[in-house]
Amino acid sequence: MTPKSLMSIAPKPEIIFTHGQGDYLYDAENNAYLDFMQGWAVNALGHSPKALVEAINTQASRLINPSPAFYNQPAIQLADTLCKLSGLDQVFFTNSGAEANEGAIKLARKWGQTQPNKPWKIISFQNGFHGRTLATMSASGKAAFEPLFNPKVDGFIKLPFNDIEAVKSAIKSDVCAVMLELIQGEAGVVPATKAFVKELRAVTQAANILLIVDEVQTGVGRTGKMFCFENYQITPDIMTLGKGLGGGVPIAAMLAQNQVCCFEHGDQGGTFNGNPLMTAAAQVVVDTVSEPNFLHQVEHRHQQLVSGLTQLSSKFGMGEVRGQGLLLALDTGDISANKIAEKARTSYGLLINAPRENTLRFMPALNVSESAIDELLERLAKAIDEVA
Ligand SMILES: *Cc1c(COP(=O)(O)O)cnc(C)c1O
Repeated sequence: MTPKSLMSIAPKPEIIFTHGQGDYLYDAENNAYLDFMQGWAVNALGHSPKALVEAINTQASRLINPSPAFYNQPAIQLADTLCKLSGLDQVFFTNSGAEANEGAIKLARKWGQTQPNKPWKIISFQNGFHGRTLATMSASGKAAFEPLFNPKVDGFIKLPFNDIEAVKSAIKSDVCAVMLELIQGEAGVVPATKAFVKELRAVTQAANILLIVDEVQTGVGRTGKMFCFENYQITPDIMTLGKGLGGGVPIAAMLAQNQVCCFEHGDQGGTFNGNPLMTAAAQVVVDTVSEPNFLHQVEHRHQQLVSGLTQLSSKFGMGEVRGQGLLLALDTGDISANKIAEKARTSYGLLINAPRENTLRFMPALNVSESAIDELLERLAKAIDEVA
């Protein structure tokens, strides 16, 4: 069935999904799949939630794109909301997480040019993932990226994650920023330690260099707080958002503190950036997630999922359960996570992701129901039992 006209960039199962609702995806024969991937952690409110559909419909019939040469109301409103929620001052909207990170890298380099030593190098971390443009692949610490598309963009110093001494010795007068994921998502949900992040903030401040947090995966409620940096009691100089921000539509953002915002006219832009259709959609997500009770529910579902996965782990002799909020991973030990994910899909109508050979990742909708988690645990137990 492999479609000949689509460039093949990854192996994909022979399913074509035609519709989705809440925690479930359906194919043309109406087979239901319980979805704990949710568009790769993008459908923050599940599939086709009513409020999002209505906002998109309303905005589409009113104004889709006046051109990036003009302001539009939904973009202004969303920027105001994000600044108020994050404490950062200004927003640049983009169409993907990689593009937001690319913007962060450019802003950090530009800011470096305003400093006495004109620093331009950026410290990033082994196993980190920041996207698939040439600069963001260069910033990423994925071993599989190393031989690809060389020469890469110069100026990234890759250090071991959670190693503050390594950072201290790497900070020289040519370094302008440190860039990291607070939880390394693609690496298998590996959280930065609290001590590391606290010290990193102190060290970067003392050295007068920028701290960039890539919250493309962790932002907008995913970790149980509106932004993951709140779990670490720090404020970054630059933050990027993506994935869950649009509830499934392509929008991402780069936010920064006033003193870093040094782009001059002509430095940055993009045809689709901040268009009202996408910003109106994201407004629904951000407003919903920031409702007083919403993140409490995320916390309850977190507890439920962690305790269920912990039980499964001890039942099958597997490893630890890691992560925050509804970005969780189960270390499957000697049992192949890929085989479990495959079995779960083909025999039990369950969609889960295996980012590593022995890691399963769970990224359900943030409003996932209690019964959907029970269902996941039941189906997953059967899949593991069969593979083990
Ligand atoms: C997914 C992801 C990206 C890339 O986002 P795209 O929208 O796929 O370009 C960057 N950083 C992190 C941490 C991500 O999880």
